[in-house]
Amino acid sequence: MKKRSPLRLVLIFGMICITGALITQIFWLRKALQVKQSNFDQAVLLSLRRVAEHFEFSSTGSYTTLSAASKISQRKFRLSINDKVDANVLEFYLRTELAYPSLDIDFQYTLVDMNNDSAVFTHDVNMHETEKLYQVSADLPTFSKSTYYVVIYFPNRSAYIGVKMTIWIFSSLVLLLAVFFFAYTVFIIMRQMRLVEMQKDFINNMAHEFKTPIATISISAETLSNPEIVYQPQRMHAYTDIIKNETNRLRNQVDKLLQMAKMERDKIELHLEQIDLHSLIKEVIPNFALKLDDQNGKLIYHLNASQHQISADRVHLTNIIYNLLDNAVKYSEHDPQIEINTINMNGDLLLSVKDRGIGISKEYQDKVFEKFFRVPTGNIHNVKGFGLGLHYLKLVVNAHKWKLNLESEKNQGSVFTITIPNKNGADENGKVSGLS
Ligand code: ADP
Repeated sequence: MKKRSPLRLVLIFGMICITGALITQIFWLRKALQVKQSNFDQAVLLSLRRVAEHFEFSSTGSYTTLSAASKISQRKFRLSINDKVDANVLEFYLRTELAYPSLDIDFQYTLVDMNNDSAVFTHDVNMHETEKLYQVSADLPTFSKSTYYVVIYFPNRSAYIGVKMTIWIFSSLVLLLAVFFFAYTVFIIMRQMRLVEMQKDFINNMAHEFKTPIATISISAETLSNPEIVYQPQRMHAYTDIIKNETNRLRNQVDKLLQMAKMERDKIELHLEQIDLHSLIKEVIPNFALKLDDQNGKLIYHLNASQHQISADRVHLTNIIYNLLDNAVKYSEHDPQIEINTINMNGDLLLSVKDRGIGISKEYQDKVFEKFFRVPTGNIHNVKGFGLGLHYLKLVVNAHKWKLNLESEKNQGSVFTITIPNKNGADENGKVSGLS
């Protein structure tokens, strides 16, 4: 069983704690909201009862009705008044009684005739007009029947309670912020851990890549150190060839590493010059002849583009064509068949390298361009590499402001296409990268 690292356990524990804190906060937030709502309702009901008492006392000289006030809905309350109603007096009582428990919330009251449930009078009250608080106005009507009830409506109830919850909302926001920073930190740590894993793989691969040629060179050198070998010139040549080939292989690997080392923080510096793409391709191909012969491979090219002068960095362009051809050979199980095509399309120049190799399944087609990424092949490490070639390709393509496309199907093969736009944007030096 895979051992869990202590850091992973700490992160899991941290996530459990943060989730616990979030659930607790939600629980208390809901509770606080319920308490604030219930406090509001209680305060309104008490105030309305006191208003009812004023009316009753004035008509009967005693208090009897405790159930005069009730709640209709979240924002509406009902107050029964079995008496004739002077709206000036009613409004005065409503104002003063609601102001008493500091309910400084605007409301609207509607006088409804109980007999036919029709509204006879509606008025809006602004509780922030404090100068009217202890004044009885004289401009409102009086209603002489004694079959009325009043509906008091608080349109801003939610906002009013929201303001009372400010401290809760603030603490919840602080907690959310903490969760966000925690999640972000976890994300960064995970990414770093993945990078460390990838670097470990990279070092393993590198050791493998260097070990084989070093071992071969060492055996060959030992054989050559035998004085008897001078009498077998053919064997001697064979061994010196082996040493030459293996040192070439080592040099290639070191060059690849240097390519990457040159890329400071994944930025590529370009030295643009006018290049004939077709000539460059023809210069690179002979370097592959030996490799292809070795593996019984075939390379054909159709250089059909009529406009093939481009502005590009010669070294980087040579490297990426080399990398693509190298991969096309490496990732073909037998008899590599490689095709290089160039064509002009819609004014752009398209360069593609096609193989009929093992292909790349959909899920890995974006990932292969990531640094150190290699398509997992279980425990089979028959093809060596650092997982840097395609990442470098992508960086070079981006630096030139070209486009890169990969079409691939598992066990069918892959086509890497670079689109070099016709006179697309200029670089920092004002030079145009692309066709010229
Ligand atoms: P590597 O040094 O491993 O070849 P690259 O960056 O060149 O690194 O490629 C990344 C991975 O993409 C390779 O490990 C391989 O799994 C996959 N890959 C690259 N080119 C091809 C190809 N032509 N056909 C199939 N798979 C490929």
